[in-house]
Amino acid sequence: MLNTIKNIADGWLRHSMNVWLKKYKPSKEIQTYLDDRFSVCMSCDHMSVMNYPGFNKDFRFCGKCKCAFPSLIFAYRKECPQRKWGAIPDDIK
Ligand code: SF4
Repeated sequence: MLNTIKNIADGWLRHSMNVWLKKYKPSKEIQTYLDDRFSVCMSCDHMSVMNYPGFNKDFRFCGKCKCAFPSLIFAYRKECPQRKWGAIPDDIK
């Protein structure tokens, strides 16, 4: 449970810093992992899309772990619940 909370916080923090605040720029190696996770999730049958009236945007989340996408790909320690991708190794900076 604690690891799940840490992963959610980690993912949202990095995603916010990267996309909205432009304060987080991953290394090339990390970006490779993020790009791979992004591609796998986008083509995954478990990716769910919701559209709320009044919002001009689709909301995506993983139908298995219920984590918000793309924040979930920014959680370095997270593993895909279907084992399609794993945690980013600690020695990757
Ligand atoms: S985390 Fe795994 S199961 Fe969930 S959408 Fe991504 S690839 Fe699919």
